[in-house]
Amino acid sequence: MHYCQRCEDPIVMAPQGDVAVCPGCGGSERAKRLPLFVVTGASASGKTALFPHLVDGLGECLVFDVDWLIGPFQRACEFGEVDWPAFRDAWLSVAHGVAQSGRPTVLLGPFVREQLDDLPGRRWVGDVHFAVLDCADDVRAARLEARPRWRERAIERHVAFAERLRKTADTVVRTDDATPAESARRVIDWVRAAR
Ligand SMILES: [Zn+2]
Repeated sequence: MHYCQRCEDPIVMAPQGDVAVCPGCGGSERAKRLPLFVVTGASASGKTALFPHLVDGLGECLVFDVDWLIGPFQRACEFGEVDWPAFRDAWLSVAHGVAQSGRPTVLLGPFVREQLDDLPGRRWVGDVHFAVLDCADDVRAARLEARPRWRERAIERHVAFAERLRKTADTVVRTDDATPAESARRVIDWVRAAR
């Protein structure tokens, strides 16, 4: 979020092209906006397996696993549940910050488009592109069963979420017919085609 540093009151600036403009004094500052790439998927879609391959293959972007902010957010929300809209908004802010260095952001996380549309940070990033990692329901169930005991399973819920994502996705990358490196290559090609 950009606040005007010239005005005496804390006025929220508005994005205009690649600058932020103060509606009070008309002052502006640099606020570059770049596309954001979200690689979504229900649990056990293969996000974690693809991560190192995407980092290695997409040197022109910054790649994050959104789970990395869950721990800090749990501490920030000590007396309650994680505020998930705030959590997602934090990632939009990260993407905007990364864009100032001229690099697009790739987020690996179970987000859907409607969850981002109304967040304050949404207008500070460019187009948001979604790709869904997907696999057959029995493969997902087997992957969830194979996880260590401390991880939650909730197989039916994850299968239902996968079904919802599958219906709404423009781009689906399967992870049950290819190695993680091969699936990552499809994601890398998708990012490069959309940039
Ligand atoms: Zn101002």
